Amino acid sequence: MRFKIYTIIFAIFAMAIATTVFVVNKNLHFIQEELGKPIYNTRVKEFKTILEDKKAYLASFTKFLSSSNIVIDSYLKNDREKLINFIMPLYKNLHDSGLLEEIHFFKPPAKSFVNFANLKAFNMDVSKARADIVWVSTSFSPSVHFYICRLYPGLRATYPIKYKNKLLGSVSFGIHIKVFRELFKKLNAENVSIYLNDNELKESLLPEKYKYYEKLPSYKNWKVLGNVYNITLKPGRELQNGYIFSKIEIKDFFDKTMAYLIIRDNIFPFLTKIKYKALFLLCLEILSFILTFITMFLLFRWMLNQINEMNRILYYIKTYQFDKIPKKTEEKDELNVYKNNLIDVAQRIKAYINLLNSEIEEYSSKAYQDVLTKTLNRNFLEEKAHELFIKFEISKKPVGIIMLDIDDFKKVNDTYGHDVGDMVLIKLAETIKNDIRKEDLFIRYGGEEFLIILPNSNIENTYIVAEKIRKHIEDITLEIGQKHLKFTISLGISEIREGDSSIFDAIKRADINLYEAKRNGKNRVEI
Ligand code: GH3
Ligand code: MG
Ligand code: MG
Repeated sequence: MRFKIYTIIFAIFAMAIATTVFVVNKNLHFIQEELGKPIYNTRVKEFKTILEDKKAYLASFTKFLSSSNIVIDSYLKNDREKLINFIMPLYKNLHDSGLLEEIHFFKPPAKSFVNFANLKAFNMDVSKARADIVWVSTSFSPSVHFYICRLYPGLRATYPIKYKNKLLGSVSFGIHIKVFRELFKKLNAENVSIYLNDNELKESLLPEKYKYYEKLPSYKNWKVLGNVYNITLKPGRELQNGYIFSKIEIKDFFDKTMAYLIIRDNIFPFLTKIKYKALFLLCLEILSFILTFITMFLLFRWMLNQINEMNRILYYIKTYQFDKIPKKTEEKDELNVYKNNLIDVAQRIKAYINLLNSEIEEYSSKAYQDVLTKTLNRNFLEEKAHELFIKFEISKKPVGIIMLDIDDFKKVNDTYGHDVGDMVLIKLAETIKNDIRKEDLFIRYGGEEFLIILPNSNIENTYIVAEKIRKHIEDITLEIGQKHLKFTISLGISEIREGDSSIFDAIKRADINLYEAKRNGKNRVEI
């Protein structure tokens, strides 16, 4: 029983833990989803801020160059040397510190004037490759856009160079797209990749420049700067086993998707921490619940045991089995006190019953006893006759009856006195008591007349007993002073017969036989 209950408790515990793990794991996905949103939003915001900053940086430089007197003068005098001498230190400085990729001066619409990345490109017409330059030359407005030119994919600002409302040319100032990767690495992104549109690269870059990008790892139609991840290329966020991919689309001057900036954030350690913390707390809760349950269970069982014990005590009282009632115990709690009180009550009842029993015994022994001969008296017979008769009837066994009377007892009294008569009666009773069994009922029926009821004794046996008694009495000699006193008895026997309505029917037949014995000369047994 105990084993079974502990098994059940253990099973409940295991099930609760399993459910907890299941629920936590299920909710972990939800947490990941929820966590993904702000991370993605932050990454997009960061990208926009960086982009704005970079655009402002490029635009302000380009604006400054386009309006510089030295630049305008160089254009008016067609003096490349002057322009190169003026810009070169700035270009070198910024280029070497990775702050720019290109400074390129054009003449309208898109003829290379000075390209600091390639000074030999002088006079080269790039109208086909640089639609942004053509657009600036025709619209007279600045352009700040992502673009894949012949040399690199990047962000570029182009400004018109004007003199007295006349267009002299334009200046383009650009940074490589990989700058964004470097910056996001600094912003604690776990990893950053740039997926570049391979078709655009192939189409726009010079063959010798494309060689570098051709060697980059591929993913579908994309060349990847950085690690290749198996993701769907469309703007938004993507979750993969504790990783959040923020995918930012980069469009070029033509509004075509030129690249994707892929920022990977790892929230796995954070998720694991949350998971174990949640599991720990839930398990703690379950444990405390189970401990409470066990405590309640033990308490309840202990109370039930106590109540059961008290019930048992009550049962023993009800069935008078006082011997089985336990002893009092130390009073540790209310139930114990209650139990001890019950035991106390039981002991009092026991004592009271004992008292009653002994009183009844005493009373009945006195009430049913003949004072002189210490045999049962006539009262006993009158009161118990009916009860005895029923008992004999139920037992279905023969019951013998002996009626006996002292012969010429009057003469004894007359000759020796009443006291000697009493002595004779006492001696007779003692002798007969030795001749009969314990279960035989020996009753003083009248003055010197006795009745013996012998359960489980047929008429033959009864006769033998009667004859034995007669002989033993005959053998008695009482010394009265110098004289020897002898006496005899006459006996009549019978048995309870079928059809008798009471024990007295059989007694009557024995009595008749007794008188028959008297008539036939006394000191004899008559059936
Ligand atoms: P029978 O042989 O016919 O029985 O003659 P009996 O003398 O024994 O019979 P009877 O009935 O004439 O006398 C009975 C006597 O028994 C009378 C009475 O005084 C005496 N007796 C009865 N009870 C007691 C007693 O308790 N003590 C003494 N000593 N005598 C008693
Ligand atoms: Mg007599
Ligand atoms: Mg008589």
